[in-house]
Amino acid sequence: MKHKIIVWFRQDLRLLDNPAMYEASQDGVIIPVYIKEDQIGSASAWWLDLSLRSFKEKLDSLGANLILKKGNPHQVLKELASRTGATAVYFNNRYEPHHLENDKILITELKEHGVHVNTFHTNLLFEPGSIRNKQGNPYKVFTSFWKTCKQIPVQAPLPVPANINWDENKIESCKLEELELVSATNWHQKLEQYWEPGEDATLKKWRTFAEVDIHDYLTYRNDPVLDATSLLSPHLAFGEISPRLIWHESKELEELSEIENLNEEQQESVEGFLRQLVWRDFAYHQLVDFPHIVDKPLQQAYLSFPWNKVEEDTLEAWKKGQTGYPLIDAGMRELWETGWMHNRVRMVVGSFLVKHLLYHWKEGSAWFEDTLVDADLANNTMGWQWVAGTGFDSSPFFRIFNPIKQAERFDPDGTYIKKWLPELRLLPGKYLVEPWKAPTEILENANIKIGVDYPEPIVEHDFARKRALSAYQQMKEENKNA
Ligand SMILES: Cc1cc2nc3c(=O)[nH]c(=O)nc-3n(C[C@H](O)[C@H](O)[C@H](O)COP(=O)(O)OP(=O)(O)OC[C@H]3O[C@@H](n4cnc5c(N)ncnc54)[C@H](O)[C@@H]3O)c2cc1C
Repeated sequence: MKHKIIVWFRQDLRLLDNPAMYEASQDGVIIPVYIKEDQIGSASAWWLDLSLRSFKEKLDSLGANLILKKGNPHQVLKELASRTGATAVYFNNRYEPHHLENDKILITELKEHGVHVNTFHTNLLFEPGSIRNKQGNPYKVFTSFWKTCKQIPVQAPLPVPANINWDENKIESCKLEELELVSATNWHQKLEQYWEPGEDATLKKWRTFAEVDIHDYLTYRNDPVLDATSLLSPHLAFGEISPRLIWHESKELEELSEIENLNEEQQESVEGFLRQLVWRDFAYHQLVDFPHIVDKPLQQAYLSFPWNKVEEDTLEAWKKGQTGYPLIDAGMRELWETGWMHNRVRMVVGSFLVKHLLYHWKEGSAWFEDTLVDADLANNTMGWQWVAGTGFDSSPFFRIFNPIKQAERFDPDGTYIKKWLPELRLLPGKYLVEPWKAPTEILENANIKIGVDYPEPIVEHDFARKRALSAYQQMKEENKNA
């Protein structure tokens, strides 16, 4: 008789390239389980609810019953093994510091309980710790990390197993609603018009992008209006698609694009896209090597940075897109409306919080964690440390984005601003990026009263810039004298 194996699904709600499930299907009869454990942000919780629903339906159609549980995984898995007679637990690794810590303990406990554990690597292209410089140390510069990654073969994705034996016993399972993922507020309802969680929708989205848009990735990826990037980030964050599958299918496209009639930039676009995907690995590798970065600056010098004390009204104005700087407000309103924001705009709104307002980057990362559908501890932490200048290979602190110039450069005809700030739609282009400078007549023609229909800037740019540079100088002096 084949032995029973619990497959513990986590951030890998997919059948394609799922080694824990694949190997279990070769070795025995599968008992599939999902355990709700972490407290996650509101947008992520909404996503997880739909993603789990979709995955459960998929398993149902294959004759499997995905058991839903909540609570401490150690307890749940031990009880489940005892109840079902399972002799092994298989799962795919997660790399967040608390998961690494808990998994170590879990493996020991299950072994003591007589249950064998098999873990697998799948949610990154390269296993953390496997990419090192010549001295055997972690890379601090992305370009060098990327160059090394390019030389290393990425493991091919596994297919969906042809035959899976599911355990037929009826095990008590929570109802999806009992996991209480979706909050009582209706905030999440609007997200449904923008996203379709689940493996099938993700594969369709990826292949549509790969068919056409990937070849124009380098040309348009910095344009916040065009949706020219893959928009795969939440799907990757929830493991609905394997990065290895994306890598291998992209490589096939790269070979094709050499044959097809594409210009030079289009030919380089696939590589440009993969390079961006490798930033995700860079983020996870950093998180594993330097777990303290979740709360503390990667560069020690910034421990003494003189951040401003948070004023709730000002922070709220940033969160809800009421700063008086149209590009910042457009980005923050896009986030509030869709649970996502374009990467270029993330950098600019982040810089504004950290440098114009001098608020600790943790204020921003916490808001992103709650509202982004792609909230991801590694990427979010690296993104914020990049913006604050406190991470490896970051934008230096003294490089302060001017929100007006950034708008002129990346939204030259104001389409992005007008989309998210309809109250400004009648303003002529020149004033769209700094409405407070518009003459009274122009404001009247556009039906805008500054301070009534649209806010005054909450901080003046030149003042904020000087203040940020002087805080930076103060930190440098303190470190010199320390
Ligand atoms: C302050 C800040 C916070 C961020 N927080 C997150 C976050 O919580 N979750 C998240 O997934 N990304 C985060 N990012 C990175 C980036 O903005 C998003 O990954 C990207 O916008 C997602 O869009 P896309 O899927 O269309 O990306 P594409 O351009 O199509 O790239 C493909 C994939 O590569 C990865 N990727 C792309 N850019 C980056 C990057 N700069 N860093 C790490 N991975 C990248 C993502 O998984 C993405 O889905 C943050 C960036 C900043 C500046």
